[in-house]
Parts: sequence; structure tokens; C-alpha cells
Amino acid sequence: MLEGDWFTVQQIDESTYAISELGHWEKVHSFLLLGTTKAALIDTGLGIGNMKRMTDQLTTLPIDVITTHVHSDHIGSHGEYTRIFVHEDEESWLINGIVGLSLEQIRANTARDITIPTPKSFNPDTYIPFTGKPTGLLKDGDVLDLGNRKLIVYHTPGHSPGHISIFDETKGYLFTGDLLYDETPVYAFYPTTNPIDLVNSLERITKIPNVTMIYGSHNSLGINPDILKEVKEAVIYLREHDLVKFGTGIHPFKRFSVQF
Ligand SMILES: [Zn+2]
Ligand SMILES: [Zn+2]
Repeated sequence: MLEGDWFTVQQIDESTYAISELGHWEKVHSFLLLGTTKAALIDTGLGIGNMKRMTDQLTTLPIDVITTHVHSDHIGSHGEYTRIFVHEDEESWLINGIVGLSLEQIRANTARDITIPTPKSFNPDTYIPFTGKPTGLLKDGDVLDLGNRKLIVYHTPGHSPGHISIFDETKGYLFTGDLLYDETPVYAFYPTTNPIDLVNSLERITKIPNVTMIYGSHNSLGINPDILKEVKEAVIYLREHDLVKFGTGIHPFKRFSVQF
């Protein structure tokens, strides 16, 4: 564990770290993946603490920030980095601001239910989510090469239009962002979400071969990939019972749930 007032750094293996915000109700995880020529940082958290101070202690490699999706709990420290990548369908959200959520809602969500002291630099009353131009755009099937490590981009919309999952082909890690995590419902119940897309995306990730571990962006750090079998059954159940539409509520399965 690394010294950090706000972040908890957990080492997954010799070249992979989770940088987590466990003092916040959302229990957000960002992930630093080291290669030989560069590093990838999957998301940058809530923006309550300075993430670059943490990644500077973990690597001297140049860092490409990969955005799973443009929600405020995933882009918080984007402004601390120079190379930022986002799916093409959320380029405009990154530049112009997140669609469908007011600044008041975002501030209230960011500032509530915090159980540890926040850095002095954080002020919930003036907090503004990052906006800026990305360095480059991502699309389905893109391969990010870190030297000895290849990351494959899967466009997995539903929770948001440009949501991506990232498969670390070398290690077998599947980073699922807000498409799949445990403990609290996966959100697809507000206007910028799409239940049909979400279920299609869930089905799609069940077909990725050789997954050794799943890393969602919230709650448990690391989910056994046998959850994909449960996801597969859930997809069938939701479709057969005509539940894949707004307003059908929370659908609990054994280890995860979705809310439409
Ligand atoms: Zn989200
Ligand atoms: Zn999230």
C-alpha cells in the first residue's frame, strides 16, 4: 500500500495497480497498467484528490489516459494528464460537458457520504467536472500497445453511449467500467442510458475468451470471471421476460444487479 491521503493503492500484480477511492460511497477504482514503452491509466477517479501525485510514485513511463466513459467519477483527474483518449461517441461530452446531469446533481453526488477527510484542495461548492479536448479517439476493436502488453477496446454502450470495456489480452484482465460491477445496481435508467444496448453489451463481454479476472469501476476489486456465466443467464432472463426497457426497476441476480 502506498502513502496517499485520499487514494488507496493496491497492487494487482507486478505491473498493474488499482488506485481506489474507498472513502467515498461510490468506491471508485482507476487502474494503472504498466508496459515496457508506456503505461495506460484506465479512468482518473472523482477528482477529489490529485491522482497524478500517485501515478508519479508508481511509474516514470509516459501515461495514456483511457476513459471508460465520460461520467464525473471517471474523469476527475483528467486535467492532470496530457494524453487523454475517449470513445468517439463521447468526444463531445468530454469537450462540452456531460449530457443529462446538472452541475448541482454532480456536486451533490460527489460530496455526499464521504467517510475520510478530503484533501484541502477539494471544495464541493466550486467542483467542476473536467472538460477538454482528447488527444485521440477510440473505437471498437482498437488495440493499444504498451510494448509487451496489448489492450483491446470493446465498445460496450448502454450505461452511456460511448462506454468502453478494455480487455488486457496479455493478462486476461477485463476492465468493465460501469457495464459490470457487483454490490450495487448497474445504472441504465436515465435518458442518456439505453437498456437494450446495455444488455447487448453484457452479452458481448460473455463471449470474450480467456478472461482471468474482471475489474469493474466500483465496489469489489476483482470479480471471478465465472460471473460471466451468470451474466449470460441474466441476459436470457431479462429478454425472455420483456424487462429490457425503462421503468422495469432493479433486477437482482446472484452477484450483480441492473436497474432500468
Ligand atoms: Zn458511469
Ligand atoms: Zn461510475
